[in-house]
Amino acid sequence: MVSVQSIRLFGDPILRTPAAPVVDFDKELERLVADLTDTMLDAPGAGLAAPQPGVGLRVFTYNVDGVVGHLVNPDLTLDVDEEQCGPEGCLSFPGLTFDVRRAMRVVARGWDMHGEPVTLEGSELLARCIQHETDHLDGILFIDRLDRDARREAMRLVREADFAGTSRPVIKASPHATFGRGM
Ligand code: ZN
Repeated sequence: MVSVQSIRLFGDPILRTPAAPVVDFDKELERLVADLTDTMLDAPGAGLAAPQPGVGLRVFTYNVDGVVGHLVNPDLTLDVDEEQCGPEGCLSFPGLTFDVRRAMRVVARGWDMHGEPVTLEGSELLARCIQHETDHLDGILFIDRLDRDARREAMRLVREADFAGTSRPVIKASPHATFGRGM
C-alpha cells in the first residue's frame, strides 16, 4: 500500500526540532520506513528524513544511483581530508538548489528497521545525502551550511519563493533546477 505523506516546508518548527532516537523496532517503525520511502520516491527525491513529513524520530531514507534504503539512529564519521562543493536541494525548500560544501566520504553506522546493525559507506551524492538527512535529524537545514554571503542570498530567494505555510508553492526565482536532487 502506497502512502505518500505531505512534506513540511521551511518555516515549520518541526524542521528545527532535534529528532528522538528510535527505541522500539516494531511494526510502526516498519510503516514509517515504508511511508518515508513512498513519499521520497513520489517527490521524487534523493533522500527524506522523518521530520520532513512530521515524525520526530531519527530515521531517514535514501535513493541514490538506483539504490533505495534507510537508516535508523545514524552515527556519522566524516572523512575530513576531502570535500565536495556542488548543487544540493531540499524537499522542504521546493525548487531551490544551492552549492553546499560537504565531506566527500562518510561512514554511517546505525540500524535497519528490524534492529539489525548496518554500516552505510557513501561518497559523492550518497555522502552528501547522508550528511543532509542526518542534519535534518539534528534540526539543521542546508542553508545553515552556507557561508554568510551565500546564506544571505539563499534567504532572499526563500523569502521570494514565499512557501512558508503552503504545500504547493509558486517558485518565482531559482538559481538551478532541482533535477531530483532534493533531499
Ligand atoms: Zn532536506
